[in-house]
Amino acid sequence: MSNWHIPLSDLDYGSEETMAVQRVLQSKWLSMGPEVQAFEQEFAEFLGVKHAIAVANGTAALHLSYLALGLEPGDEIIQPAINFVAAANMAVAIGVKPVFADIIGLNEPTIDPADIERCISPRTKAVVVMHYGGYPCRMAEIQTICQQYGLVLIEDACHAVGARYLDSQAREPHGNMVGTLGDIACFSFFSNKNLATGEGGLVTTNRDNLAERLRLLRSHGMTTLSWERHKGHASSYDVILHGYNYRLDELRAALGRVQLRKLKRNNSRRQQIVLAYQKHLTPLSGWTVPFWDYLGDSAHHLMALVAPDRETRTHVVKALKQAGIQTSFHYPCLADFTAFRHLTSHDLEQSRLFAQSVITLPLFPTMTTDQVEQVCSHIYEFSSLTKLKDDLH
Ligand SMILES: *Cc1c(COP(=O)(O)O)cnc(C)c1O
Repeated sequence: MSNWHIPLSDLDYGSEETMAVQRVLQSKWLSMGPEVQAFEQEFAEFLGVKHAIAVANGTAALHLSYLALGLEPGDEIIQPAINFVAAANMAVAIGVKPVFADIIGLNEPTIDPADIERCISPRTKAVVVMHYGGYPCRMAEIQTICQQYGLVLIEDACHAVGARYLDSQAREPHGNMVGTLGDIACFSFFSNKNLATGEGGLVTTNRDNLAERLRLLRSHGMTTLSWERHKGHASSYDVILHGYNYRLDELRAALGRVQLRKLKRNNSRRQQIVLAYQKHLTPLSGWTVPFWDYLGDSAHHLMALVAPDRETRTHVVKALKQAGIQTSFHYPCLADFTAFRHLTSHDLEQSRLFAQSVITLPLFPTMTTDQVEQVCSHIYEFSSLTKLKDDLH
């Protein structure tokens, strides 16, 4: 809910979510119990991955992943310069240096495999990829680089729940789900994500030893959970490493289970809206519609549009705001934030170009094609192809 005529995103919440929360309240067991267990199991089945570990949020998922993988002070993690700040912040938080690699280009703002190779140093231990807007990165090339240099591969899959990576060399005829393509993957269930629980996150992995460490780190390094003790399956516990409290509660897990059931339908609704946007926006000369010719399978988390230049972006965003249409920027270039500026990074030409002209347009499963046309008609004001605007109305 918002005061915007067309908000950037909106929840698909209804009576199922209300009932799920009521069920938990009536059970009087509020954290890490049967709902969390069921959510983890259902999520793992959905992705076709061995382990799913629910956590407090996506940032906690990244933090735990770095720790479970044994990253240490002095190590370096290569990651895209266009990303939410969490992956870089969590690196710095454990004394690891984030090394920013450039994106491929305006049309494909995901990490450039060739630039990953350029960033590798003797201290490099890991690569983080981020499937921008829900579109899988060039994973075949990135997997090869990681194998060649002995690097661990982490997916920041916060945009891409339900996306599938299609690769001509993939053994699976339908491709593998995002979240199964590296050593470990991180998801967020923040309010504006495709699967929303308010706060919430999850880590997936096929590696048993990582899963065990993640479960321990999530809850103080304790060998048993209070739920197990409550059920009488255990009476005591040991602490075998120094962990955190990054647990998810039962209320959010119950919401997550309902949202997971809606995910496939809502992601395909998002796809329909993106196709409508693309139909109207791709003819605009000077503008770039990222991924408009993408052949793979996306979760369609964001509708990004790149203006011809910074000034045009400013004018368009202002006009949209006056019309009650909410927009955002995903994302500023990480290397240019005050807290990261001291880290030397090489030329990030494409990232900076993208960061200064990208606009994120409204996209949510319940959006109508009429709303898409309203957004596009305001953008036409700033394009040379004003004729199209007449066609539209
Ligand atoms: C949302 C998001 C995060 C952080 O998740 P939180 O649940 O908000 O901590 C990290 N990376 C990306 C790409 C995100 O979109």
